[in-house]
Amino acid sequence: MKIFKSKSELKDFLLTIRKDKKSIGFVPTMGALHEGHLSLVKRAKKKNDIAVVSIFVNPTQFDNKEDLVKYPQTLENDIRLLESVQCDVLFVPSVEEIYDTNVVSENFDFDGLEHQMEGKFRDGHFDGVGTIVKALFEIVEPTNAYFGKKDFQQLQIIKKLVEKHNIPVKIKGRPIFREEDGLAMSSRNVRLTKEHREAAPFIYKTLKKARKKFGIKNVIEVTQWVEKQFKKHPFLELEYFTIADEKTLETPEVIHKKKKYRGFIAVFAGDIRLIDNIGLK
Ligand code: AMP
Repeated sequence: MKIFKSKSELKDFLLTIRKDKKSIGFVPTMGALHEGHLSLVKRAKKKNDIAVVSIFVNPTQFDNKEDLVKYPQTLENDIRLLESVQCDVLFVPSVEEIYDTNVVSENFDFDGLEHQMEGKFRDGHFDGVGTIVKALFEIVEPTNAYFGKKDFQQLQIIKKLVEKHNIPVKIKGRPIFREEDGLAMSSRNVRLTKEHREAAPFIYKTLKKARKKFGIKNVIEVTQWVEKQFKKHPFLELEYFTIADEKTLETPEVIHKKKKYRGFIAVFAGDIRLIDNIGLK
């Protein structure tokens, strides 16, 4: 695996790849890699001539400074994992390499997608995400880019970013990888205390029960039912549970058979914030 810290050296290398008419599959990450990330890399590798991964803990998308400072960094292990799935290129830029001395976000209009759910609770988060993903797309110029449905709102926002800015890349959404007990894999899971780690599978269990209730009970009733489950819980604190249209991310007043909906959740386990979502039928 080739490792680049410099964007110009990476660009020069990728130019030779594109000249050979080879396709580039790209997976942007913040590192502390797990099976969920690796599933994206394997897919990128399978569907393209080369797989490029970036590891960059992007400061502008963190609304919580402590979360940024404590974000797990495990580069040695990440390199080993990426080599184990035959990743071709790793890009690990410094903050200066990406932002120079001006560590700020651009302002984006994602047609309202950015104001729902995570956008309500994480101020400026999607401007930060838009800024870094756009910058990385300009450097890598990938043929295809792979994102997990774990961050479903982010996936929809990136599709919108690409559409609005005419960026010539295909965005591919991929399934959520989970631990055996159902907890969605996340780099932040390693920071959970034993107590919170044991409690956390309750999130997905509740999502699955909510899925069963959807269609029998209405949106408000299902939402209130989820809220009630968490009120009783000794270790987990619900930030939000929202049922939303997959395309608009708005909560429906009436359910349309032809539209797709998901249940979205954010929960605090101590000071660790966990998100998850589930498709509803
Ligand atoms: P992150 O390193 O958290 O920025 O995530 C990098 C990419 O991996 C994003 O597209 C995430 O949606 C995706 N990802 C993170 N966790 C999972 C998971 N459990 N299953 C599938 N994809 C994931």
